[in-house]
Parts: sequence; structure tokens; C-alpha cells
Amino acid sequence: MQVKINRNFDNLVTNYLFADVARKTAAYAAAHPGEKIIRLGIGDVTLPLAPVVVEALKRGADEMGLKETFKGYPEYEGYGFLRTAIADYYKSFGVKVSADEIFVSDGAKSDCGNIGDIFSRDNTVLVTDPVYPVYVDSSIMAGRNIIYASCNEQNGFVAMPDDSVKADIIYLCSPNNPTGAAFTFEQLREWVDYANRHDAVILYDAAYEAFVTEDLPRSIFAVEGARTCAIEFCSLSKTAGFTGTRCGYTVIPKELERDGHNMYATWYRRQATKFNGVSYPVQCAAAAVFSAEGQSQIRENLAYYQENARIIASALDELGVFYTGGTNSPYIWLKCPNGMGSWEFFDYLLQQAQVVGTPGEGFGENGAGYFRLTSFGDRDNTVEAVARIKRLLS
Ligand SMILES: *Cc1c(COP(=O)(O)O)cnc(C)c1O
Repeated sequence: MQVKINRNFDNLVTNYLFADVARKTAAYAAAHPGEKIIRLGIGDVTLPLAPVVVEALKRGADEMGLKETFKGYPEYEGYGFLRTAIADYYKSFGVKVSADEIFVSDGAKSDCGNIGDIFSRDNTVLVTDPVYPVYVDSSIMAGRNIIYASCNEQNGFVAMPDDSVKADIIYLCSPNNPTGAAFTFEQLREWVDYANRHDAVILYDAAYEAFVTEDLPRSIFAVEGARTCAIEFCSLSKTAGFTGTRCGYTVIPKELERDGHNMYATWYRRQATKFNGVSYPVQCAAAAVFSAEGQSQIRENLAYYQENARIIASALDELGVFYTGGTNSPYIWLKCPNGMGSWEFFDYLLQQAQVVGTPGEGFGENGAGYFRLTSFGDRDNTVEAVARIKRLLS
């Protein structure tokens, strides 16, 4: 007998997107020393943690160093003080979620992928195209059938449900990575109604909810009917600069049932088996994000990124380039000018303006001919990159 590996891994398509971007950028830099390259392709935050968050992290570490306050294994679902703070945060924008429906985790990526553990292999998964690759690759690893809902210029990169399509598990991300497009309440309501009608479950990724500035949903639970069909993932990564600190949370309403099983109880059982929780200092830091002081401090960082996004978007407005995002999202998804392909535009921008972005086709077929810029960069660099882009395209 020989060990057999999960052959579903053979079905993963190797995505060279970020490797190719890095390789082409490095080659250009080597051939043109002294030229300043500006990177607007990064999907990672750059501003540091807020001061109250750092204080809480240190305080948590200090407590771990004293016999009286030392903590061993945390609760599987997260400390009560953090879950209560998260529930209060939801309440602050009018959404009712109870502290005992929240699971604290090390981030949204793990939960978005791991949630598949509680569903049978024989479910059809619907994702949008373009898409955050985690939903696709984790479904492939599980051997599930995947269908795509097209996002394009005609629908403003917002896909809507179709009753003739049978999907069991539906991944939605709003505001979206990579397109920056966000659902309205009415649009999200259509998905919720579809899921309830078809006994499907929506896996809703709200990682960018804190970037919403207009009157748009920041949680799927802001929509009536969502409590009987949705699970929500959220993260402090983009909200509060936790990409390197790691903390997220998942909400499963107590009344969500499928196939005779309670989804909260099933996920609890999964977590209790495979997960031993998030470290105490990190949970202290996360709770500090939701304090009044924490909220005002993280809002300063979010405002910085939002202003970068506005600067990029207003240049595209002037140039008459079609794009989505930028208003309720750190991402700007633009149509490559003059019918250029994604990689063609990447090379053009790199060679003529020394600006690096992300070719859209790395996120799915519908990304061909599109390009993603992000607002996570430095202000001066963003301003300079935008000036170069305007010079090049006007
Ligand atoms: C960045 C991001 C996340 C956050 O992942 P973490 O594991 O919490 O860092 C989740 N979903 C999307 C779509 C993202 O872009």
C-alpha cells in the first residue's frame, strides 16, 4: 500500500499572476536603475496598527507573563469580551447579531476556506467571475463542482441571481475584491431571497465593510431573511491593519439550519476539533479596535486609504476611463484603455510610467482587458503615479 494524496489538488490551476508581476517588475528595475517604480498593485495594508491596539497587545502580553493573569487555551469561539465588542460594533450600524453567534478566528481567509468542511462534497458552488481565488481553490480541493456568475461592464461588475441556475453554496464578496463593486440593499436582498427559495447557503465575505461610505450594506444581516440562509466572514486585516497580526470573525445565526442540521453547532464541532483559538494578546488587540478610541484611530487610517482611492478615481473620471470601485472600496477596477489586454496594459504602464498594477485576468476570464489599482500605497507615491498615468493617457 502507498499513501494516496488528495488528487483534487491536481485540478488546481497554477496562478502565476503575482509571481509574473514581481518577475516583470524586477526585470524592468534591473534594466533601468535609477528609475522610480511606484507599486499600486499591492493588496496589503501599509499603515501601522493604531496606538490603542498596540497598547492592548502589550497589556495582553504582560498579563500572560504573570501567574495571576496567565491564560491557557482560550475558548474555541473566542473570549466573551471580544465577541461582545463585535456584537456591539454590528449594533452601531444597525445590525442585530448576538455575541453567541460569533466565532473569533485567525482571519477570514482560513474561515472562507475551512467552512467547506461542514458541507458535503456533492454541492454545487457558485462564485462570481472575477473572483477572490480562495473560494475557487478551496472548492476545487474539496472536489466540488463550481459554476460562475459573470460580472462585466454591462452589469457594473455586480452579478445577480438567476433562478434557472441551481447553486447550493454561494460565495459573495461585497465590497468586492478585486472589482471594488458593492451590492445595494435591493441587490443583496435578491440573493437572500434566491438562497431561501433554493435552500442554498450564502457565504458572505465582508472583509471590506469598513470601506463603505455610501448607504450600502456592511453586513448581509442588514438584509431581511439573511439569518436563515447566510454565514458572514469578516476580518480586521483591512479594517485595522491586522494582516500581520491575524484576527477575524465569522457569524452564524442560531436559526440557520440545513439538511436537518444546525449550522452553528456543526461549525462549533468543526472548530473544537481542528482549531484551538486565537492568542489572548491578539484578542485584546482586536477588542481595542472596537473601543471608541480604537474606532476613531482606525478611521484615520481608513480615511487615508479612501483619499488615495478618491485621487485615483477622479483621475480616471477626467480621463473618461470606465472603472468600478474606489468609493466604497480600496480597489479601483478599470477597463484598459484603447482595447488593450490586461498584460499589454501592465507592460505599457510599467515601461511608460513606471507604475505597477495587477492585470485583471488573474482573477478570472472576465478580468481580461481589466486592471486593478489599490489605494494601500503611500500618499505622495499615489499622487505621483496618478500624475504619470494622466500624462500618459491624456
Ligand atoms: C484580504 C481579504 C480577506 C482577509 O483575509 P485575512 O485572512 O483575514 O487576512 C478576506 N477576503 C478577501 C476578499 C480579502 O481580500
